[in-house]
Amino acid sequence: MVVTLVRLGAMADYDLLVLGSGPGGQKAAIAAAKLGASVALIERRNMIGGVCIQTGTIPSKTLREAVMYLTGMSQRDLYGQSYRVKEDITIADLTARTSHVVGREVDVIRSQLSRNGVALLPGMGRFLDPHTVQVTDGSGQERKVTAEKIVIATGTRPARPDTVDFDGQTIIDSDSILGLERIPRTMIVVGAGVIGIEYASMFAALGTKVTVIEQRMRMLDFCDTEVVEALKYQLRDLAVTFRFGETVTAVQRYARGTVTTLESGKKIPADTVMYSAGRQGMTDELGLEAAGLAADARGRIKVDSSFRTEVAHIYAVGDVIGFPALAATSMEQGRLAAHHACGEPVHEMHKLQPIGIYTIPEISYIGRTEDELTEQRVPFEVGVSRYRELARGQIIGDSYGVLKLLVSPEDRSLLGVHVFGTNATELVHIGQAVMGCGGTVDYLVDTVFNYPTLAESYKVAALDATNKMRQISMLTE
Ligand SMILES: Cc1cc2nc3c(=O)[nH]c(=O)nc-3n(C[C@H](O)[C@H](O)[C@H](O)COP(=O)(O)OP(=O)(O)OC[C@H]3O[C@@H](n4cnc5c(N)ncnc54)[C@H](O)[C@@H]3O)c2cc1C
Repeated sequence: MVVTLVRLGAMADYDLLVLGSGPGGQKAAIAAAKLGASVALIERRNMIGGVCIQTGTIPSKTLREAVMYLTGMSQRDLYGQSYRVKEDITIADLTARTSHVVGREVDVIRSQLSRNGVALLPGMGRFLDPHTVQVTDGSGQERKVTAEKIVIATGTRPARPDTVDFDGQTIIDSDSILGLERIPRTMIVVGAGVIGIEYASMFAALGTKVTVIEQRMRMLDFCDTEVVEALKYQLRDLAVTFRFGETVTAVQRYARGTVTTLESGKKIPADTVMYSAGRQGMTDELGLEAAGLAADARGRIKVDSSFRTEVAHIYAVGDVIGFPALAATSMEQGRLAAHHACGEPVHEMHKLQPIGIYTIPEISYIGRTEDELTEQRVPFEVGVSRYRELARGQIIGDSYGVLKLLVSPEDRSLLGVHVFGTNATELVHIGQAVMGCGGTVDYLVDTVFNYPTLAESYKVAALDATNKMRQISMLTE
């Protein structure tokens, strides 16, 4: 590809200025630098890597890994239900791993930015006009920076209801959960979204008695219904109680814990209450009006398909633009926005995007669900493979895992791939590659997979689907 960038900002300090160093901002900055632009990135000193590295994706996934290892969860099918690697797991056991990984990741990001010549400006940015941003560092020192193009990648923070008195230990959110001083014996999770359920499953695996309270009657309703049922079954087995269709009206803190009152009149005691009630865009202190921009009530900024805001030289990417609000998609949005800003031709964001949910066990899928296909009147056949019928499933002791292919009987293409169990978030990418390249179920039938692997589940499920499709054609011939 030929780099078409000409220097954008003869009069400005930088060609491109990025606000926020999360996945969106990082990838925008590096992509623009690789295209030859002079780039600066503004971020608070203690937030390099953004929510992704400091408080969100990476700490939570590292915590999950520590929980899986120390509790011996993944080995209990083989060594018995009382199997543990460590009997008395402490918060220090968990946070040691998290701090190690976060520290390493921050080093990697700093080094990538510096190798690519991206200037890191410590502080918080605020627009003074559409091309000028004031940077205020931790000690209150201010400087003005001008740029020809600007990318806003300031992300989100947990939404905190005004009526709830968060104290970081007994009433917490997904930020303060990382600062807990001890593992609670009992915990209420308010909100059964992805973050709430991921933490509910980690604490349940640690032995905490978790109650999940959700206003709606279902959870994770964008996922395959059977997969969500299987997850609920596994979590109930870990002593998780679900209260669907319930609204929290009050949370009271006492010397020895909390009492949560529900609209239905129930009162639930718990050592800790974790709120996971959505996220708010970090735009209130950005001075957007000085740039000619505005955010919606949830702090989100509107963009077009090129990630351009209503002000032509200002782009926005990542969680601050809303759905799907994943590190995975934010990175790609950042890269694409940088190409658009630098006038470099680039493909549009791929329509096919995976969803990965790191519950215990994990969930991942690509494409459509059975419910969506049924609603859209698209016929499909289902091919299923259960890990317990795979040699690798037996070896690793995963008896609950399942991979499901949804196949079009008309053109034999894959319409969806749904995985539940060990390595689901990795396995899904085989299906994604086949779907993305326009492959059919026959490719999976004809392919030789390493043995024994979990990847082999694709072949087993493909054979299941094609055998069912053959039965129909035999009957109707
Ligand atoms: C608990 C949790 C678990 C998650 N797990 C996953 C997962 O498993 N997989 C996944 O793909 N996604 C996951 N996510 C989502 C993921 O973390 C976000 O989608 C991703 O971090 C968003 O990236 P971003 O580029 O929008 O910026 P963010 O990572 O949100 O970072 C924004 C940065 O901008 C900075 N900033 C804000 N205002 C200013 C300003 N005025 N000036 C300068 N800088 C500013 C902030 O300090 C922050 O560092 C998780 C999120 C949470 C909370």
